[in-house]
Amino acid sequence: MTEIAHRQNAQRSDAEVLAERLPALLPEAQTLGQAEIPKGTVARYIPELAKADPAHLAIVVRTVDGERYEIGDTEVAFTFQSVSKVFALALLLRERGLDIFDSLSCEPSGDAFHSIVRLEEEQGRPRNPYINAGAILVSGALPGDDPTAKINRLQSFLADICDAEPFPLDEAVFRSESATGFRNRALANYMQHFGRIADAKAAAETYFRQCSLSLTARQLARLGLFLASSGVDPISGQQVISPECNRTAVALMATCGLYDEVGQFAISVGLPAKSGVSGAILAVVPGRMTIATYSPALGPKGNSVAGLKVLQFLSDELGLSLFG
Ligand code: GLN
Repeated sequence: MTEIAHRQNAQRSDAEVLAERLPALLPEAQTLGQAEIPKGTVARYIPELAKADPAHLAIVVRTVDGERYEIGDTEVAFTFQSVSKVFALALLLRERGLDIFDSLSCEPSGDAFHSIVRLEEEQGRPRNPYINAGAILVSGALPGDDPTAKINRLQSFLADICDAEPFPLDEAVFRSESATGFRNRALANYMQHFGRIADAKAAAETYFRQCSLSLTARQLARLGLFLASSGVDPISGQQVISPECNRTAVALMATCGLYDEVGQFAISVGLPAKSGVSGAILAVVPGRMTIATYSPALGPKGNSVAGLKVLQFLSDELGLSLFG
């Protein structure tokens, strides 16, 4: 068999294996995830997020060859929160390329997502784009003259990727986040003090809006497919970002996507992923698929307890870990 034929065969059998196994694995994953929910609590520091129903659990698998397998509350909308950081970074990388790392590092922080401590030690240069400080810097640098223009641009970038209607802004979450976002404003002000960002107020405002865009687990798995496919959306064939930029965004998910739980996640799941405090997690299996989970009860590090369990189970069962 030629190498290409061999690879095609391997791909075919990968799709066949998923088609055969996922319909039975998803209900099992759901049961395991549901059993975790009582161990977590819904985020309360943004008051509007506390209204989420902790019983919700959605699991969606999208493969690069267009299949979808799903179970649970896959059409329940939630806010993007920190999962948005990957997509804002993708847009900025597309506009400006890897030069953005002049003002931003790309190392794991080992700190909580909203930590401020390293900003003082490192003269306002955020550790990476997936902690809040780095994400606020990215939001402030998005194309557009003001927060509204920047968010419009991000919304159309997202809609174009998956040929969907723009994901709407959840006004109640936005107001709640803005009313209580003192810590995020502090990060922005601190970075402006060091000359890292030009307009702290606009950067924080853009960030709050970006976190408040609303979508479903089904949409999230679809949206992220390009990340599993070298920056090319496998459904439309559109090159969303260059392979090099994609590798950067995905590698940072593997090293910084779950904050100070990323090491444990590398061991137990072994996939690049990004979590958010609304309870979503987007995991990427390079070359093969995305897995989106949504369940709002969080563990102590701000990651969905059911989502972590589901991803661990699916990774074990399907041998998905990149680390063997
Ligand atoms: N909007 C949230 C915040 O800035 C996002 C944090 C997260 O999802 N981890 O606090």
